Amino acid sequence: MNPIAFAVPVFLAFIFLEFWVARSRGLQIHNLKDSLTSINVGMMSEFSKAIGGLISIAMFTVIADRFGAFVWDVSNPLTWISALLLYDFCYYWVHRTGHEINILWASHVVHHSSEEFNLSTALRQSSTGFLFRWIFYIPLALLGYPVKVFVVVGLIDFLYMYWVHTQLIGKLGWLEYVFVTPSNHRVHHGQNDYCIDKNYGGIFSFWDRMFGTYADERDDEKTVYGIRKPLQSWNPLWANLHQFVQIWQQVKSAQNWRHRLMYVFAKPSWTPEKEDATTRFDANHFSRFDTPASKALIRFAFVVTALTNLLLMSYYFFQSQLSQPLRISYCILMMLILAGMGWLLTRPREATLSHLDKDHSHA
Ligand SMILES: [Zn+2]
Ligand SMILES: [Zn+2]
Repeated sequence: MNPIAFAVPVFLAFIFLEFWVARSRGLQIHNLKDSLTSINVGMMSEFSKAIGGLISIAMFTVIADRFGAFVWDVSNPLTWISALLLYDFCYYWVHRTGHEINILWASHVVHHSSEEFNLSTALRQSSTGFLFRWIFYIPLALLGYPVKVFVVVGLIDFLYMYWVHTQLIGKLGWLEYVFVTPSNHRVHHGQNDYCIDKNYGGIFSFWDRMFGTYADERDDEKTVYGIRKPLQSWNPLWANLHQFVQIWQQVKSAQNWRHRLMYVFAKPSWTPEKEDATTRFDANHFSRFDTPASKALIRFAFVVTALTNLLLMSYYFFQSQLSQPLRISYCILMMLILAGMGWLLTRPREATLSHLDKDHSHA
């Protein structure tokens, strides 16, 4: 049974708790459409992993069995501690290349596409990352760590990163030096100049200090969350594909092979004219994406998200009883429902639901 099945209700409960605490403190840190989109992106990621996520476990097993250099005693705590440290080190490079190589950014960008920063943002995970992330963990396989250890430390890393997506927790003193915290991860999600390409750590922040990518959160500058080329959509499918589409268009219009390769493998800010065409961020000219949507449409989206969550949970429980074609069909159908709902939220006026648009709100 997928352990994420037990984490999903906890994740959702804490999102509600954070929403309630923020409201009671008079803080506006949520947008309902954004939070629903984040949850839907998270579910789409889980359904995509259900189809292809076993690649990483299969590849790890093959490499560890054939080339594993050492035999590790799983009853020795040092096995687990060293594996966690090494996994987190590899994660640092997965994450750093995910920002600094355009084709990998196309996959990771979805996590940064929210202009809010709250616990729901943590669920905005890529639906394409499973295709290549396993490559970065090959060192653990070559060292011969058992696949069970790889899966468990990967899960610890993943679960740890949930709680750091909140604005309700301030700086945590000396912990900032060792661990990824809400404060230093807020910097990672910022689009202010000082935030760009900073704080890539998963559990530990000392990797960033070692490799010169660490930045402390500034108290004199309000952090603006999101990406410089805004997504401007509530559609989880588009959130996963938009940067790939842009790269495709750039490659198609490029004048020579060097430019084509650079569009794919250079930094996302690369242009033929400039190695780094990043412009200075102007917080005064930033406005958050929103769309008019009726309360009825928002309620409908809420119900669809809740039902799809139940269907995801059911999938976790019953997947072993389903045939492979049925599993794949089920997951594709769920992803299409999520994409359809995202389209409906983004373009309510074109969605022939004009009868729902009696009362407009910007909820
Ligand atoms: Zn990132
Ligand atoms: Zn994050």
